[in-house]
Amino acid sequence: MSQTPLIVGNWKMHKTIQETEEFCLGLKKEIDGIRSGQVEVAVAPPFTALAAAARLLKNSSISVSAQDVFWAESGAYTGEVSPKMLRDVGCRYAIIGHSERRQFFHETDDSVNKKAAALITEKLIPIFCLGETLAERREGITFTVVERQTRQGLKGLAITDPQDLVIAYEPVWAIGTGQTATPQQAQEIPAFIRKLLQEHFSPEMSRGLRILYGGSVKPENIAELMAMDDVDGALVGGASLNVKSFSAIVRGAGPKEK
Ligand code: PEP
Repeated sequence: MSQTPLIVGNWKMHKTIQETEEFCLGLKKEIDGIRSGQVEVAVAPPFTALAAAARLLKNSSISVSAQDVFWAESGAYTGEVSPKMLRDVGCRYAIIGHSERRQFFHETDDSVNKKAAALITEKLIPIFCLGETLAERREGITFTVVERQTRQGLKGLAITDPQDLVIAYEPVWAIGTGQTATPQQAQEIPAFIRKLLQEHFSPEMSRGLRILYGGSVKPENIAELMAMDDVDGALVGGASLNVKSFSAIVRGAGPKEK
């Protein structure tokens, strides 16, 4: 089965509107030569720069993602942004459940589940992040944690097309630390998640759903990570802030046969 890899750049709290515009123009130039269908690319600027990115990337092969969302349609939720607003500004994706949201902003499996459902209703694609902390890995409960996050995050979600959801396995100890998971570690957990997806959805859906790896992905390690059977792309933090390193990752991802 052929799968188009997906590379997503999570900018976190970086870049002004002007910096976003410069980046988007530069990225379009750099990855122009990549045939559509070979690699899919998305960038996730902060909320303040989404409109600028969407404007510059319109009619290009590069999609725009938000870094978070709130599940309600509208209402008295000061500071929050709804799926409808993200659709309105030109997003295709929204990251949910990122470990930094879980760690600093009280994101829970239940709130991730509500966000996923709200995004799907609005025809936006959740990039659902999960992964164990270093303490959990040391304690030997990685599989238990990942299983809980997967089951609770996906509870009641009804999707019929594998393109409607993306999972990102991000071991927390590998995020922003320079300590990338070994290709074997990056394969082991996505393979386990895929089994859970098979139970939750169906074998066909499970095969078609893209599972990204995230955690200190760089131009130097993307090829060996992408060589793993169950890694269908990457969620990239630090190395996505620079056009050269992000486009080198995109080029290194290549198409893959399954
Ligand atoms: C991330 O923020 O999702 C991430 C993987 O960051 P980094 O690539 O910097 O480890």
